[in-house]
Amino acid sequence: MEDILSQVYAPEAFREAGHRLIDALADHLANTQAGKTEQAITWQQPDEALERWQFDPSNPGGNAVDLLQKILTESVQLHHPRYMGHQISPTAPIAALAGLLSDFLNNGMGVYEMGIPGTAIEVNVVRALAKQMGFGPAADGFLTSGGTLANLTAMLAARSIRAEANIWQEGNVRPMALMVSEEAHYCVDRTARIMGWGEAGIIKIPANERFQMRTELLEEYYENATANGLEVIAVVGSACSTSTGSFDDLEAIAAFCAKHNLWFHVDGAHGGASVFSQKYRHLVKGISLADSVVMDFHKMLLTPAVTTALVFKNGTHSYQTFTQKAQYLFAQATDPEWFNLARRTFECTKEMMGAKVYVLWRTYGTALFDTFVTRMYDQGAVFARLIKNHPDFELAVEPECNIVCFRYLSPGDAEANNRLNAQIRKAIVEEGHFYMVQTQLRGLTWLRVTLVNPRTDEGILEALLDKVAQLSITTH
Ligand SMILES: *Cc1c(COP(=O)(O)O)cnc(C)c1O
Repeated sequence: MEDILSQVYAPEAFREAGHRLIDALADHLANTQAGKTEQAITWQQPDEALERWQFDPSNPGGNAVDLLQKILTESVQLHHPRYMGHQISPTAPIAALAGLLSDFLNNGMGVYEMGIPGTAIEVNVVRALAKQMGFGPAADGFLTSGGTLANLTAMLAARSIRAEANIWQEGNVRPMALMVSEEAHYCVDRTARIMGWGEAGIIKIPANERFQMRTELLEEYYENATANGLEVIAVVGSACSTSTGSFDDLEAIAAFCAKHNLWFHVDGAHGGASVFSQKYRHLVKGISLADSVVMDFHKMLLTPAVTTALVFKNGTHSYQTFTQKAQYLFAQATDPEWFNLARRTFECTKEMMGAKVYVLWRTYGTALFDTFVTRMYDQGAVFARLIKNHPDFELAVEPECNIVCFRYLSPGDAEANNRLNAQIRKAIVEEGHFYMVQTQLRGLTWLRVTLVNPRTDEGILEALLDKVAQLSITTH
């Protein structure tokens, strides 16, 4: 009986390990949230880390929960109030438990019967989101593994629907292109290249001084592209851009797309969540005019990664990504089988991602998301004010949301300031009390924060500026 498989599946051992781990996580949550632990990140050189985590499969042993606790303490602490790095949520613990359940159940979800609650939950979550975005009852969609994959999926659907040729059967028979702001996330560029459109297939529209698409240039770029023989399929609006959190004018893009019968896609991976904030939903005015919208629940809505919604204004379009037109017409005549999600997603087997959103949204209501998004965006304005009040700091652009770019200004030239800010950011990560990132904007290096922790208060933001100012003296 005591063979290795019985050990692995022993219910009492699981109970004990689970209780220990949950206790450790709850203690960890209390300590990090209170800022009692020093480290927001424990920096290690990649090669050192690789060695540290080496193992010998022929010599197993050690306590599994001890191992998990070691991973816990050496990882980036998103629940720490001094975490303000990449755009990802400190998970709501209850949503993380839904993740545990999903991992435990391993319902594959590819076909309906392999995840009945998971499928129904997912579709209900996506339809509730579509409604929150202002779409009508025809809207529909699904969840998928990240904004990157969701943007690609949306563009494949757009090409299938808008291209003159039958792409699914014939391939790219003439050169196609999409239009997007030069400030868009790099995954949109990749999407065009993955679809085989090459560099010419991504038409980058210059951005204004606020890093928003200059929509008044769309017409000119479109005319040039068509004159050069390109079949333009779509325009992608950024809501918001990744580097600076700048929102494109979605209504202007919608009007342009309507005029030329182009697909209008919104990459709302980060800022699509603005629809939940009564105070800030004006930032995404026009979002419901889009043919498709991507939004990450794991960025601004407290959900474990990766949980991304892809919403289509016309739900039947969501079935066209992986079908020929002829097949689609046939499918339309029959049942669209909304409940067999893999017909519409890249994934065949997929985890029960909807449950992580559902448990939050159903238990706490829309008020939870409104409170979180509103508070974090408000904090962006608070931090911008502190930066502007400090003579040694420069703000890249007035923030529209919770992404803020700034830099320390020394008397040196642009090159010297670039070097200095990069050194400051390196020193901050290596010390690890704060976690933030850096970005390049028009040839200048900026420090960049995304405020995602409700406990990142004004005192902590002031302490960050003090830390940066202090490091500007000691790092060079
Ligand atoms: C984060 C982000 C993405 C990528 O989403 P993932 O979920 O990380 O794949 C795409 N677009 C924008 C605007 C983003 O901010």
